[in-house]
Amino acid sequence: MRCKKHVFMGDKDGVHCFKCGFTMTHDEYVKSLRKEDKDEELREHDSVSDDLVSESENTSL
Ligand SMILES: [Zn+2]
Repeated sequence: MRCKKHVFMGDKDGVHCFKCGFTMTHDEYVKSLRKEDKDEELREHDSVSDDLVSESENTSL
């Protein structure tokens, strides 16, 4: 059983979610953090390309 949003606490073996008890090693935890970072980068990228699109639309006017 896993909760929707884990609340991780560090312990000697890695981290564990204190809500549902889900555990990860430090390596897995770092990887999951990096993955979230990437997702945010992608989202930022999307908004940047949106800006570029509206800019080129303005130029064509
Ligand atoms: Zn959890």
